[in-house]
Amino acid sequence: MPDKLSANMLYNYVKCPHRLTLDLFGDYSKQDPISSFVKLLWEKGTDFEKQVIENLQIPFLDLSLYSGIEKEKRTKEAIDNGVELIYSGRISAENLIGEPDLLRRDGDGYISGDIKSGSGLEGESDLSEGKPKLHYTVQLALYTDILERLDIAAGRNPFIWDIHGREIEYDLNSAQSTRKPKSWWSKYKSCLEVVSKIANHELKTLPAYSGICKLCQWRTYCLKWLKKANDLTLIPELGRSKRNVMINRVDSVSEFAKADLDIFQKGRKTIFPGIGTASLQKFQERAMLLSKRDSKPYLKSRITLPDAPTELFFDIETDPMRDICYLHGFLERRNRDTNTERYVAFFSDQPDEQEEKRAFSQAWEFIQKSMPCVIYYYSPYEKTQWKKLQGKYPDVMSKDNIEEMFYSDYTVDLYLEVVKKETEWPTNDYSIKTLAYYLGFRWRDESPSGAESIEWYHRWVETGDVNIKKRILKYNEDDCIATRVLLDGICSLPLFHLIN
Ligand code: SF4
Repeated sequence: MPDKLSANMLYNYVKCPHRLTLDLFGDYSKQDPISSFVKLLWEKGTDFEKQVIENLQIPFLDLSLYSGIEKEKRTKEAIDNGVELIYSGRISAENLIGEPDLLRRDGDGYISGDIKSGSGLEGESDLSEGKPKLHYTVQLALYTDILERLDIAAGRNPFIWDIHGREIEYDLNSAQSTRKPKSWWSKYKSCLEVVSKIANHELKTLPAYSGICKLCQWRTYCLKWLKKANDLTLIPELGRSKRNVMINRVDSVSEFAKADLDIFQKGRKTIFPGIGTASLQKFQERAMLLSKRDSKPYLKSRITLPDAPTELFFDIETDPMRDICYLHGFLERRNRDTNTERYVAFFSDQPDEQEEKRAFSQAWEFIQKSMPCVIYYYSPYEKTQWKKLQGKYPDVMSKDNIEEMFYSDYTVDLYLEVVKKETEWPTNDYSIKTLAYYLGFRWRDESPSGAESIEWYHRWVETGDVNIKKRILKYNEDDCIATRVLLDGICSLPLFHLIN
């Protein structure tokens, strides 16, 4: 049992409560190896922090060479001496311990800060200023809490120095959002309470099948547990919080599949907070699909897809660490004949804006030349990234062009508009990998994943190795083909409703 609660524990908890449990008490021999993408993230984070510190134009005290008790002793001395800026200190009070990247003097006290190699805010767009990230907030709040307990806090307004060179103040007394009026501070306090209970064995956690498991080292271990327990989170979109409110009444997919839904009904609502009658019915249909041997996917209603002689299956690749979109790939098919297929790609040969713009401009030109055509892509990511590129390079395409392209009847987000709305599958999620794999498609790469492709791009930039570029292009081509396989698979699904 840990004697102190740390920022890292809070970070793990908000990512996945069970990860905190396993990191504290799990058998480390059961962990998967660290993926090359995660290693790259760590490397980038460390390099970025180093770069920021090396370029600091103001005097500061560097305690990064010290660790443990010695680091803490030197931090205390520096605070007592009123040092303006302390880098890599360590502070503790009662059962809390933290190592903020920065401690900055403000009047008679100190505020804490972290250096992050990501954006300091999430959800920034034309319509929104963005908001603090919870996993950053809880760490900064813990440092602030320690400073308060030591009676040297200058306020509840720690900060992030982010990848864009900005200092972003995190006002911990402010409301989380208009829909969540409770302050970030109270959110931190409730997280801290749960973290404390988990660390003291007063609260048990369970794994939950979710997208973040992909990069987690406990993935194989948790997946084995989930399959054995036939856990409810194996039902697509059900998730941890709904599972947690259902588990005392129904604890497995097969049990849920057989259940009489009337026993969960209370008037027009269900007995499960946050789950309406229609959702419960939908999840039960999915449980039935997963439980029945040989069950097949089906269409919930008749669908009409646009028709044009040319179809483009479109997929992009981005490097979030360099904040660039480096590849626009298209699989072109004519008259629905797979023999006519060809792959066309526009690749940024340098990770810079000039090359990014060239690739974007050529991709847009290619689309225009292919008109009239139907464009298929999977999930809103392509739309979001193209909107961002339009904002960056308005001379390549206008806002109206973007509207025409993504909001026309001839452009289809196969995930949002078709898979999610109109189909059901006997799978645990609706990712393109899972569904195309279900339909028999196999990627040529032995470890195909968007995250890994970012690592490949990074290595290509570093080495210029043409084989790495070929690997990226092959992977992107397979993503485009998978989208076509999925479209054809959907078009041949039977129209079927399991319950009625
Ligand atoms: S694999 Fe998933 S459920 Fe398990 S600890 Fe990791 S994130 Fe949590």
